[in-house]
Amino acid sequence: MVDRVYNFSPGPATLPGEVLQQASKDVVNFKETGIGLIEMSHRSKEFIAVTEGAEQLLRELMDIPDNYKVLFLQGGASSQFYMIPMNLLGKGKKATYLNTGAWSKKAIKEAKLFGDIDVAYSSEEQVFNRVPKDSEYSVADDSEYLYFVSNNTIYGTQFPEFPDTEKMLISDMSSDILSRKIDVSKFGIIFAGAQKNMGPAGVTIVIIRDDLLEKTPENTPTMLCYKTHSDKGSMFNTPPCFAIYGVGEVLKWLKKQGGVAAMEAINKEKAGILYDCIDSGEYYRGHAEKDSRSLMNIPFNLPTPELEAQFITEAEAIGLNGLKGHRSIGGCRASIYNAFPKEGVVKLVAFMKEFEAANQA
Ligand SMILES: *Cc1c(COP(=O)(O)O)cnc(C)c1O
Repeated sequence: MVDRVYNFSPGPATLPGEVLQQASKDVVNFKETGIGLIEMSHRSKEFIAVTEGAEQLLRELMDIPDNYKVLFLQGGASSQFYMIPMNLLGKGKKATYLNTGAWSKKAIKEAKLFGDIDVAYSSEEQVFNRVPKDSEYSVADDSEYLYFVSNNTIYGTQFPEFPDTEKMLISDMSSDILSRKIDVSKFGIIFAGAQKNMGPAGVTIVIIRDDLLEKTPENTPTMLCYKTHSDKGSMFNTPPCFAIYGVGEVLKWLKKQGGVAAMEAINKEKAGILYDCIDSGEYYRGHAEKDSRSLMNIPFNLPTPELEAQFITEAEAIGLNGLKGHRSIGGCRASIYNAFPKEGVVKLVAFMKEFEAANQA
């Protein structure tokens, strides 16, 4: 195995080393077929088995009920921002959105093109440092769905519990899918770009309740109807073969780690180590309010921007990469998704303590 640094990148994000090793072999010669994975027909029996295997494992790991379809789509999670309202709304139809960060803001902008959008909550004035409790907003009876981003990648906030409502939920889980146990049956649609917590960039997973496939307005372009992709097993056109394969390999790895419940316990432990360090003094300041904290992305500040720049440079020199915060809030951010090893968090915390001792403001 090559020397690996600890990669705190928010996405594309670190993948399990064994997945990368396996992929490097399969790309050249897939399962001794003499054909490389990325030059193989998507309609070959070998590749169909890859797609079906990935879907089966996802169903097993997330306990997805039978009345849900799993789709492998392109266009990134961002394309779901318009596909959802395009398929589910229309003239006179309403939906409720919670504005908890840059990704919900973008989704709201697109949704307004297709329906009457009620933004029932926003933490924008507080630079998105929290997510709401149920008591802080209400959902109109005539709303088709309640949309929220379960983990706000940039601001490091996460819904500790999902909204408790009879309304159908739709969630962008791009940065925390498979990180904790969830009840899929509360959702109409769950979607996630693979490149944060699930695999390489290029595929977006959409888990959709099957009755919703029939709601699409008639004048919707074929490629943008969920039903098109559902009817053809995500093979209406050429799918993103390598990315689907990558997701399948990550899911195999995840199952070996003990599945989602085991992952959730490890994620709590990893994030706890870092939050304990942040909370141990005044030097490091977390961006998110405590009861909204994310287990996946942890943005924090040092006393000055100069110290932050020095911190990032020195961290990189000892193999702690990708700690620069998003340009919208600056500072540092540690993204510690499922595949990020605990040893990397321990090493970061040791470095944080040393840095603080050596560099008082
Ligand atoms: C990264 C991210 C997106 C955008 O994903 P793309 O696949 O690049 O379109 C959307 N939502 C969340 C929560 C993200 O973290």
